[in-house]
Amino acid sequence: MTAPFPSVAPPPRLLLGPGPSPVDPRVLEAMARPTIGHLDPAFVAVMDEVRAMLQPLFGTSNALTMPMSGTGSSGMEAAVVNLVEPGDRVLVGVNGVFGGRMCEVARRAGAEVVRVEAPWGKPLSPDDFTRAAAGRGFRLLCVVHAETSTGVLQDLAGLRTAADAMGALLLIDAVTSLGGVPVELDLHGVDMAYSGTQKCLSCPPGLAPLSASDRALRRIAERTHAPVSWYLDLSLLSDYWLGKRGGGRAYHHTAPINMVYGLHEALRIALDEGLETRFARHEHVARGLRAGLAALGLELPVAEGERLPQLTLVRAPDGVVEAAVRRFLLHERGIEIGGGLGDFAGKAWRIGMMGSGCTEASAEQCLLGLAEALRAQGASVVDPMDAAREAWRA
Ligand code: PLP
Repeated sequence: MTAPFPSVAPPPRLLLGPGPSPVDPRVLEAMARPTIGHLDPAFVAVMDEVRAMLQPLFGTSNALTMPMSGTGSSGMEAAVVNLVEPGDRVLVGVNGVFGGRMCEVARRAGAEVVRVEAPWGKPLSPDDFTRAAAGRGFRLLCVVHAETSTGVLQDLAGLRTAADAMGALLLIDAVTSLGGVPVELDLHGVDMAYSGTQKCLSCPPGLAPLSASDRALRRIAERTHAPVSWYLDLSLLSDYWLGKRGGGRAYHHTAPINMVYGLHEALRIALDEGLETRFARHEHVARGLRAGLAALGLELPVAEGERLPQLTLVRAPDGVVEAAVRRFLLHERGIEIGGGLGDFAGKAWRIGMMGSGCTEASAEQCLLGLAEALRAQGASVVDPMDAAREAWRA
């Protein structure tokens, strides 16, 4: 019998949504290299290099800095199930989808969850957390650094002090921030952070880089019960990624070898570019994109100064069918952008300019495509590129 289907032939797509982002060809090429064993000394050397290259991305010297097998959500689960024991009180900042998901993960881990809400599209302040704690002790304070559902950048300054006042460890979701904006775990006293490979690292989805401070590791060592997840148990994973106390690597699960090659190459690309240069590129492209969007008469619901450069929320004007614009872009131009979620469902688009997809050329294709899509719905719009180019020249 022959295979009933031909080989997968993905259509050409420019990925300008909330992720995945365009994968650098160097990453795909690295992933196509021969698979070797997960305990082969040659692979262990690659693992050590991945750990070493993740540290500057996370702005940390944490020894336990490594990728979890699984997408960003595996990092979220790992952080929560390792730091929380049933009955612990956990404070979670919720101003979009992913804060809500953290609440659910913590609830399932047996935590007593207290939500600290801000309107979608607005960041939270350290005072919001202090007020919600109301003098009670908490095990964990959680916040989303880059809320992909709204494009809000959460300032981390002051959160360590707020966490200390309630005796909490500080956990951040850095899925969309890592590689696009500075993360700086050590500067902000963050105890644990997790990310994903498919956003500003421009690697396919499949790994969740995670970093844990010594304080977080002490908390894990003091647990009275083992974490409910064996697969995500950081103590066991540490014996594989860092090695056992007596030396040597202990098999835990078979690492996704070729994904690790891909992440290795993605990290080399980020460090070769230089992190400052990379962050400045994201800012630069966003400046032109925002100017072009303004020229199209489109409104950005997130206030200036609180916006992520790598993810822009755009309000769909009255009279324009939001989903029809996305359909036009995908089917007529091969461009993927995201729709709004939650409070913004059916009312906004999310445009991602992430990693290797973050270029003036991508922004131009997106702006011109949007202009055509709006015209197709009868809107009268000007060419957005004059404004975009002027912003890029400034
Ligand atoms: N956290 C944030 C901020 C995200 O943007 C995402 C995915 O978009 C996740 C968590 C979950 O990651 P994944 O879909 O890779 O499991």
